[in-house]
Amino acid sequence: MHDAEVVVIGAGAAGLAAARRLVDAKIRVVVIEARDRVGGRGWTRDIAGFPLDLGCGWLHSADQNEWSHIGQTLAFDIDPTPPPWGRRALEAGFAPGDQADFWAARGRFYVRLEAAAGSGIDRPASELLEPGDRWNFLLDAMSTYINGVELDQLSVIDFDRYQDTGTNWRVVKGYGALMTAYATGLDIRRDCPATVVDHSGTRLRIETPQGTITADAAVIAVPSSIIAGEMLRFSPGLPDKQNAADALPLGLADKLFLGIHDLDAFPVETRLIGAIDRAATGTYHLRPFGRPVIEGYFGGRLARELETEGEEGFARFAIDQIAERLGNGVRKQLRLIAASRWARDPFARGSYSYARVGHADARALLAAPVDGRLFFAGEACSRHDFSTAHGAYRTGLEAAEQVLKALSPVGSR
Ligand SMILES: Cc1cc2nc3c(=O)[nH]c(=O)nc-3n(C[C@H](O)[C@H](O)[C@H](O)COP(=O)(O)OP(=O)(O)OC[C@H]3O[C@@H](n4cnc5c(N)ncnc54)[C@H](O)[C@@H]3O)c2cc1C
Repeated sequence: MHDAEVVVIGAGAAGLAAARRLVDAKIRVVVIEARDRVGGRGWTRDIAGFPLDLGCGWLHSADQNEWSHIGQTLAFDIDPTPPPWGRRALEAGFAPGDQADFWAARGRFYVRLEAAAGSGIDRPASELLEPGDRWNFLLDAMSTYINGVELDQLSVIDFDRYQDTGTNWRVVKGYGALMTAYATGLDIRRDCPATVVDHSGTRLRIETPQGTITADAAVIAVPSSIIAGEMLRFSPGLPDKQNAADALPLGLADKLFLGIHDLDAFPVETRLIGAIDRAATGTYHLRPFGRPVIEGYFGGRLARELETEGEEGFARFAIDQIAERLGNGVRKQLRLIAASRWARDPFARGSYSYARVGHADARALLAAPVDGRLFFAGEACSRHDFSTAHGAYRTGLEAAEQVLKALSPVGSR
């Protein structure tokens, strides 16, 4: 039996932010983490001689993003090169005139979407597409990258609440590596999935395969999918909390990295769209940081399908798409380095949250504390920054402030 003042469950961006704030306030904190590593959906792997982010890679809203600041403090190089999705894509199979057309259609779609959200009545974003428009497939594909789901599952009200400054930077050594560095010095029990939070007694009892931990308060910073799927249970049960988590499922986005032999065959920091006439397409970031790599991005139903094919099948799909655009000669240039399968990851079960249509307010319900001693954090709890690592961080910080208030009502900490 271990004892702590506060237990933080989950060592992702949210849990780490909460734990750090509480430790700074001299609270005795134990962090319990299901995996053998910290960072959660922030995960950098050193493969093929350089760091690759299998999870989050971009510091969105970078000019206001707390991780940018943490990176600078911990001497991590931050790269301000603008992302390729904000510029014209490679012309292969996507002529400049068509690209201009697409951007105009996208602009009109967003105007309709904003107006629809303003009406206060929620509906799927697919209802805002112009029937028969040639760019609907690509708009759908973009939604799978941004939201992890196609437009037919996207709540216009939730999507409209997302806020972004439009500045995007990267951590050269990896976003996940930055989170790992930030965790240094915290008391973290790895390989320790919490199974039950028992809040029936005067003290909380958190059950894990490594034993029970008692605590005055807990910050629950696991993905919404883990609460909805009852991999982590509450005793007594919290049906409202579970319903809120269920209304905020994780969409799916996966990455696949291909190594390149002949660097001259691929321009640096450029984007290639796999296809413009279907929603089931990858998008390919050629040579990020100038490295000999292509980072493919796949979302929604396509990503779900590709996960079932295994890494080789996944790579075949990507190489076929690239070869269709750049010619069969590129096939021999490419080899599989790594791929993610976030839906199959038992401690994520997806990539980032979206709200089911009609349930945008579930984010506030998921974030609401229970009995002044159960506090909730994680990207799905964020009203305006959901689906991001800085959104997760902010919810963790907020949960920690709530804990401090609850433990010390006179505000002495
Ligand atoms: C492919 C991909 C690309 C992305 N790209 C970006 C991007 O460019 N920019 C961006 O800002 N965001 C991006 N994201 C989203 C971002 O990674 C997440 O929003 C953020 O990392 C979530 O942090 P979190 O703390 O809420 O959850 P998590 O990172 O999932 O942390 C939760 C932790 O809880 C642990 N856990 C689960 N169950 C238990 C249990 N029972 N007991 C104990 N521990 C448990 C998990 O192992 C995990 O460590 C991306 C995500 C993916 C998958």
